[in-house]
Amino acid sequence: MVKKLVNGFKNFRESYFEKKSQVLQQLAEKGQSPKTMVICCSDSRVEPSILFGTGPGDLFVVRNVANLVPPFTSKDNVSIGSALEYAVKILGVKDIIVLGHAHCGGVAALCKSMNNDKEEEITDNLTDFIESWVDIAKPALSKISFDNKEENIEVNSERAVLLYSYNNLLTYPWLNDAINEKSLAIHAWWFDFKSVTLWKKAQESDLFMLMEF
Ligand SMILES: [Zn+2]
Repeated sequence: MVKKLVNGFKNFRESYFEKKSQVLQQLAEKGQSPKTMVICCSDSRVEPSILFGTGPGDLFVVRNVANLVPPFTSKDNVSIGSALEYAVKILGVKDIIVLGHAHCGGVAALCKSMNNDKEEEITDNLTDFIESWVDIAKPALSKISFDNKEENIEVNSERAVLLYSYNNLLTYPWLNDAINEKSLAIHAWWFDFKSVTLWKKAQESDLFMLMEF
């Protein structure tokens, strides 16, 4: 696999660089000035540059398990907080997209941990970090009925976690200021790689609308 990556870089240098050398040279000399930030899951099936047809210099990306944005006051916000601060204050991005996705293992781990809580089983954490990380989004799933195994529970949980991250963006004061000044817009998108569809949160509600092309 590592050899494949090395060959991939060789190919990048020989073909991509040849075609885009001017763009890459400018990025090296003048620095980056991306207009869009994407916050997405570490899942290998969610690849923003490929999904959105972008190249070097276009997207400022943060990835973590389950595309989580902790609240501003959370002790877990240092990594994402520093990226948000750099994107908003220094780069001045115009849009931030929180990108959730179908069949998210991180959200599934959170659902499992909440089920265990409900059954009052005494369960030791199976992992060193995963459960305590995804537990950040526990409040997002308070309205999901795990007892009745509601329909579309997986999708509903993924979208609830996505909305939780989206709403938490507003707790970062300078980010909220930028939105009020209309220099920044935030978006919640959800991607399904099985049906190859992209959904977005409606402007006035928490419903997700299929994006038509
Ligand atoms: Zn995921």
